[in-house]
Amino acid sequence: MSEENKSDSKQYDTSIIYDYKEYPDIRSGRCDNCGHSHFKSRVKDYEFIRECRNCGMKKSI
Ligand SMILES: [Zn+2]
Repeated sequence: MSEENKSDSKQYDTSIIYDYKEYPDIRSGRCDNCGHSHFKSRVKDYEFIRECRNCGMKKSI
């Protein structure tokens, strides 16, 4: 019953890879999910995958 509208935390699924074209950075170089600016990056199937070091949200760029 105490479920409030959590306006601060967006619900991104960290188990999937978001497409940058569909989900461009809200703030450039920052994680959309938690706002951190430190990422791990790797290349998979000729796509550049950027993963947030804090929350693990992934985006293909
Ligand atoms: Zn993050």
